[in-house]
Amino acid sequence: MNGQEELVALVESHLEKLSLEIGPRPVGSANNKKAQAYIASIFAACGLNVSTQSYPCLDWQYISCGLWCAGSTLPVRPNPFSPACDLTAPFVPLDTIGKLEQSSLCDKIALVCGELSGQLKNDNTQARRLLDLLVEKEPLAVIAVAENSANHKLIIGDGSFPLPSASIPQASCNVLLAYKDHMVNLRIEADLTESEAANIIGERQSAAPKIVVCAHLDTKYVSPGAIDNASGVAALLALAQEPGFQLVALDGEEYSHFHGLGAYSDADPEWENIVCAVNLDGIGVRGEKTRLAAYGCSQEVLGRLGAVLGRHPEIVHSEAWVQNNCKFFAKRGVPSFALRSCETGELVNSLIHTKGDEPYLLSPGSIAATVRFLLDLRQAFCQTVGSGRLGC
Ligand SMILES: [Zn+2]
Repeated sequence: MNGQEELVALVESHLEKLSLEIGPRPVGSANNKKAQAYIASIFAACGLNVSTQSYPCLDWQYISCGLWCAGSTLPVRPNPFSPACDLTAPFVPLDTIGKLEQSSLCDKIALVCGELSGQLKNDNTQARRLLDLLVEKEPLAVIAVAENSANHKLIIGDGSFPLPSASIPQASCNVLLAYKDHMVNLRIEADLTESEAANIIGERQSAAPKIVVCAHLDTKYVSPGAIDNASGVAALLALAQEPGFQLVALDGEEYSHFHGLGAYSDADPEWENIVCAVNLDGIGVRGEKTRLAAYGCSQEVLGRLGAVLGRHPEIVHSEAWVQNNCKFFAKRGVPSFALRSCETGELVNSLIHTKGDEPYLLSPGSIAATVRFLLDLRQAFCQTVGSGRLGC
């Protein structure tokens, strides 16, 4: 591995390339393909075998969106992957599942608000059932209240919802509710075309014990995605010179309908050779320590992890949070560790998934420290597993 200064400079150059030069790289987009090509080129230049796991997705090119009611122009954002529309129709406010079940939405626009919009924020079976019900009722379009529509936290924008849909702030909803009997005009100009997403995998020698390191390469629309997740990809790329890792740049994490882990498992990852898996997502925030949570670990694995953490005070062991990639590995019997920056402040949280997620928020030195931690982890997990030597 390079000296500390070289490592920091390397991390910096990857951050710059991904979040400044390429910029927003949502799944299916031309920029997403540029990021894939960059990652593959770094892997190849470091002598790794590079493989590509492609799968179909959509490319959504957004042009404009507008919402009008009773002469007022209201703030609105299209949900990602919404088809285009230009509609003038009455709307039906729906704040409970009961109202949704009873209403007839044919030739109308559904306005999802109150309790019901809250239920669309988590990707769970109840929310999926709600979306199915909305589709069944065949409204012309769906407008949903999202407190922070910039973050597009509603799962309605994950690529699986077939109807035109947009998010509005509560204030716009209040205006609409005051004009209940008026028509509303919703116009979304956007192009949806078939595209391809791809995970890019780099490894030195496939049939050898290895630590799988994952970081997602895609971003939300508009966001340069420095913290989320050029930070993780930069660490991943900095490991490309090292043996003992399978480096997995995952695609499609920001929009769950196009998630890359399915393609990863379809490609037969040789589970028996995976010693442990690490997921890097949102590391290296300036002024923050890094949090690590463990999933599916035996006492023995935790003991070994504890010894490594003891040498890296910049990384703190924390309670597990919901981390789907780690759950995916743990479910298959692979101990898994998630790394991300400690509880970030309100400023940082308000910038993630927006235009404001820029490299100045990051400390390349802290990302380099995570790289060093992973090298140490390899030492602890690849040299001896159980009683047998694996020597990777
Ligand atoms: Zn992320």
